Parts: sequence; structure tokens; C-alpha cells
Amino acid sequence: MAATDEVRRVVVALGGNAITTPGGSGSVEEDYRNLGISLEGIVTLVERGYRITLTHGNGPQVGNQMIRVERSLAEAPDLPLSVMVADVQGGLGYMMEQTLRNKFARRGIARDVCCLVTLVEVGRDDPAMSDPTKFVGPMMTEEQALERRDSEGWDVKPDRGRGWRRVVPSPEPISIVERDLIEILVRSGAVVIAAGGGGVPVVREADGELSAVGGVVDKDLASMVLALEIGATELYILTGVEKVAIHYGEPGERFLDQVPVSEARRYLAEGHFPAGSMGPKIEAACRFVEAGGFRSLITDIHTLVDAVDGKTGTWIVPG
Ligand code: ADP
Ligand code: MG
Repeated sequence: MAATDEVRRVVVALGGNAITTPGGSGSVEEDYRNLGISLEGIVTLVERGYRITLTHGNGPQVGNQMIRVERSLAEAPDLPLSVMVADVQGGLGYMMEQTLRNKFARRGIARDVCCLVTLVEVGRDDPAMSDPTKFVGPMMTEEQALERRDSEGWDVKPDRGRGWRRVVPSPEPISIVERDLIEILVRSGAVVIAAGGGGVPVVREADGELSAVGGVVDKDLASMVLALEIGATELYILTGVEKVAIHYGEPGERFLDQVPVSEARRYLAEGHFPAGSMGPKIEAACRFVEAGGFRSLITDIHTLVDAVDGKTGTWIVPG
């Protein structure tokens, strides 16, 4: 076997908050500063020879894009969510590529980087299609929300007592459309940035044509599907906590180190991981390992290298 086949092939999913921090200004300069810090650990893994495919969230960024489109409707045409997700994949992907290239140059790493606008196939009959649950875009007053519902046909719901927001379906990812290309690129040694924001969801029509659906795919589930499809051995999910806990933030809180997938499933069923945050990460990690993945890591972006060195993080393993 060639040496290149023996190196670790990993999909690393970066939370959208690792790029635009909550409470920050969300400016491009700030995003670059955050990326400069967030991508440091990934560069270290690349330096060690890891083959990395990087995916990322887009919540704050696509939210800002929706505000821009909303506020300029009198002067520039509306954009569907699918095009906004693709735009943000390109914009963030470019910023990540540039940041990585500059870090590689400084550290003498000879690796190519590219960003791929990614489509993800979802099922037309996915039950999520008729049950929109995923909040997107800015907060509105109830009056604004109901007005948009009537004028645009949006689904709108109250969000945790803080206001009203648009909700869209979040169907299950079935397959990454560009999976074969991504695998070729990864095998060539390139760092690939793909499936940003979970990818643009599309359905395959009876005649084979792809059409966009008005929804968003969970980026952790899309990363899991991508990892399985390109034969990654590990799936790393980077977010705002160093370790996952049961009884998180409550009496009896216990942080987890190494968890057999059967035990993680039990905690998930017991309700330790909320649907809107840790739930999909644990689900993605479990499915990856259940489908034959070697192991999956959940940790903070800043503790990535320590976790890989066995010092921290929550690892979901077979068993
Ligand atoms: P992303 O980084 O992909 O945007 P989220 O912020 O949506 O991820 O979800 C991760 C967050 O979920 C963590 O930063 C933490 O605040 C919260 N969380 C919820 N339940 C748990 C748990 N059981 N253990 C650890 N963190 C949890
Ligand atoms: Mg999130």
C-alpha cells in the first residue's frame, strides 16, 4: 500500500460560531481574525500529514445575508435560500482557503487547498419537508412575521420567547453530489473545504435533473454522510465545548471522555443532548461509528490538537 493511503483521512466540521462569534460585530475583519485562530489546529494536523476535508456551519453568515437581501428588495432582486447558501459557501470558503494558504506558506507546508460549492441530495418524501423546524434569518416581531407569512408564504414561529423567525424544513442528507470529486481531491493531497452550511439541498427529479428545495441540511449530518462517502476514518466535530456532558449545566453534570456508541445512544434517548445544538452532533458521531467509522471526536476548536493527542475531547468509539 502506498504511504499516502496510510495517512489518516478525516472530515473536520467547524461550527459557524468558530467563525462569527456570538456577541461579536460579525465584520469581515473579525471573521478573518477568528478564522486565523480557529484554523491553527487544523494546520497542525495537515503538517502532521492528515488528509483533511473541512466542512463548516453558516448560521450567523446566512442570517446576515438574509438581512441584506431583505433590506434591499426595492433595489436588487430577491434571492432564494438555496442561492444564499451557495453564496455563503463561496464567501466563507474563499476566506478559509486564503487563511489556510497563508498559514501553509508561513509554515512551509506544500499542500493545495480548494473550496467546492457543494450540493447535497435529500429525499422528496422526507417527512421534514412538511414539518419545518429549523430557524433561519433574523428575529422579527409577530406582526412582521405574520406579514411575511402572508406575502411570501413563509412558515414562521416564535423562537424561545425572543421574537419570531422564519422556519424551514431540515431534511436528512442522503448523498453528497460531488463526493467522487472530493475524494479525488483529498487523495491528491489537497485540503478540501466542502458542504459549507450543510450544502445546498437538492432533490433528484424522475428525469435525473436536480432542483433546489427551500430548506437547510444540518451541517453535522451532512459532514457525517460526506465522511462515510469518501471513506474517512475519523469525523471531528468542533464546537463551543471541550467535552460533551450528561446533565449539562445541571446538578450531576459529568463530562465524557471515551463513550461507546451504544452508551451515547442511550444518553441521546434519555434527552441529554438538545435537538437544536448537541443532539445532531451526537447523532452524526454515532451514525458514523455505527456505519464502520473508526471513531468520532467532539471538542472545542481550540482543543483540537490536544484531543487528537489523547489529552481531552469526547470520543465516540465502537462498542
Ligand atoms: P455549532 O458550533 O455547530 O454552532 P451549537 O452551538 O449549535 O453548535 O451546539 C453546541 C453547543 O451545545 C455547545 O457549545 C454547548 O453550549 C451546547 N450543549 C448542549 N448540550 C450539551 C451537552 N450535553 N454537552 C455539551 N454541550 C452541550
Ligand atoms: Mg449550531
